[in-house]
Amino acid sequence: MTRLIGIVALVAGLVLPAAVSAQSRLNVVAATEDLASLAREVGGDRVNVEAIARGYQDPHFVEAKPSFILKLQKADLLIVVGRELEIGWLPPLIQQSRNAKVQVGAEGYLDASQSVKILDIPTGQITRAMGDVHPLGNPHYWMDPENGRIIAREVADKLSQFRPGDRVYFEQRLADFNRRLTEAGKRWYADMAPYKGTKVVTYHRSFPNFAERFGLDIVGYVEPRPGIPPSPSHTLELIQEMKRLNIRLVLVEPYFDLKTPEAIGRATGAQVLVVPPSVGGVKEATDYLALFDYNIKLLVNAIKAAGGK
Ligand SMILES: [Zn+2]
Repeated sequence: MTRLIGIVALVAGLVLPAAVSAQSRLNVVAATEDLASLAREVGGDRVNVEAIARGYQDPHFVEAKPSFILKLQKADLLIVVGRELEIGWLPPLIQQSRNAKVQVGAEGYLDASQSVKILDIPTGQITRAMGDVHPLGNPHYWMDPENGRIIAREVADKLSQFRPGDRVYFEQRLADFNRRLTEAGKRWYADMAPYKGTKVVTYHRSFPNFAERFGLDIVGYVEPRPGIPPSPSHTLELIQEMKRLNIRLVLVEPYFDLKTPEAIGRATGAQVLVVPPSVGGVKEATDYLALFDYNIKLLVNAIKAAGGK
């Protein structure tokens, strides 16, 4: 009997660590640092989260590296922005990972664009053959914190599906994130309120959701179409329009060449402002809330310096 107990204890001792390690952290891979940040908010210490694209890279055009495949090989969950944002680089990586869990449509594949508010949905026929990289509507939707709230909810549901025993933990984390987002939001809206309706130009169409939420009016783009580099004729038209409307600000994502925006700035007197649309786009944007903290402060200071609206 003693011997039997000894054997049971021995077996339990061998089995238990294995059982614990089976319940070890879920491996989450996010296509972008924004989604990674939201996954960390909800997943806490029950998940390992890694991002593929860095926030200082153009998320439409990411150079595929073998290390990305390794990340995907061990992923339990892959979260993507969707709306074809990653179509130029992610699908071959998913295939080459040969990880059944994260193939498109599998349980471990979460397209974060399913329930959020999507702007710029094309009315006519738009194809990528025309060079437009937003054929399914604007994929930069995480720039509205209310969409961030929806994404966090979806991540919590998905994590709970994988780990039903941790549902309460994920729900608590989500509630805490939502509380902090609401608090921060009050500050952001109050800071931006005096500048509602400020007209700006942006390089790429990264900011429509942000502009709608915070009351900016985007009247033009340095790119003639999303993903198409500036052309001399378009730039001249934009300069005329900016002079006519007295536009004081040009917002540029960190990964675009500043040559054309600076030429526009010289011709119009507008200030060129580098605004990160993603976590990690500048060193201060360390997580999802910090991204908005940074951008709101940057914009308020720039609008004030430009003399109000
Ligand atoms: Zn885009």
